[in-house]
Amino acid sequence: MNKISIIVPCYNEEDVLKIFYNKITEVSKTIDADFEYIFVDDGSKDKTLEILKEYSKKDNRVRFISFSRNFGKESAMYAGLKEATGDYVAIMDADLQDPPDLLKEMYETLLTKEFDCVATKRKTRKGEPILRSFFSRMFYSIINKMTSTEIVNGARDYRLMSRKMVDSILEVTEYNRFSKGIFSWVGFKTKWIAYDNIERAAGKTKWNFWKLFKYSIEGITAFTTTPLVMSAVIGIIFCIIAFIMILFVIFKTLIYGDPVSGWPSTICIILFVSGIQLFCLGIMGEYLAKEYMEVKNRPIYIVKETEKDIEK
Ligand code: UDP
Ligand code: MG
Repeated sequence: MNKISIIVPCYNEEDVLKIFYNKITEVSKTIDADFEYIFVDDGSKDKTLEILKEYSKKDNRVRFISFSRNFGKESAMYAGLKEATGDYVAIMDADLQDPPDLLKEMYETLLTKEFDCVATKRKTRKGEPILRSFFSRMFYSIINKMTSTEIVNGARDYRLMSRKMVDSILEVTEYNRFSKGIFSWVGFKTKWIAYDNIERAAGKTKWNFWKLFKYSIEGITAFTTTPLVMSAVIGIIFCIIAFIMILFVIFKTLIYGDPVSGWPSTICIILFVSGIQLFCLGIMGEYLAKEYMEVKNRPIYIVKETEKDIEK
């Protein structure tokens, strides 16, 4: 019989864990496969770990990995994928925004061997703040123009993958992880299922605007170096403008003499051009910073405790 591993990143999810666990065990009964639930406790400060320990004691399908601190969802997903032993592996949020009911359909699709992955995306951004929606849309349109790796708008991390695909993802060991890109980068045939946005079952979202903004920069720098090319192009354009202006100033001086004037325009030009310079330097710095982190080669996560550490 096939085994399905379900990876659930959890950060301060004490409010939903019980609802989630009940739901997933219920759904598992309808699917003809063995199950393994890997809960990754991403350094939660609430009772998440205690609840997980309890579940793992009474249900041997439940496994958990507890991090030494909060490493972020990307690290949690990577840890889960690494630990998963199933023939098929799913990633699912703990808050039931990724409906477990879809799992059966996803699994049946993969069984046909026609696809290696069934992924989900949301149909609309209903229920999301307007400003966030706007920036999300902008992010997807910018990143997709810059990279040949397709980053699907509205894609969720919820997906069921074949063992082959999971192994390929594990080979991508970069520190700055942008999974939405990595899933697409490794290739394989993916079927997309769209559903309406579902509100969190309980608890609060762990993302704020600033975190999302940083995550979007992460995505762009991880999957394209186009911003570097752009800054070079901006540099060239400014050189051309400067050359034309030099010619203009020379001829103007030769024809009309050299009365001292043009202070305001000089200041404007200096401010504008130095702004552009700093902007381009910032882009370079961003890549340098990412490279710095990669070169350090730090572990993506650190485990404090797993289900193997507690006596059953
Ligand atoms: N999460 C995590 N580490 C973090 C932030 C979030 O493991 O640092 C988990 C969280 O517990 C949840 C999933 O990632 O299972 C999605 O988080 P959330 O629901 O807060 O994000 P949203 O659905 O609002 O985008
Ligand atoms: Mg959520």
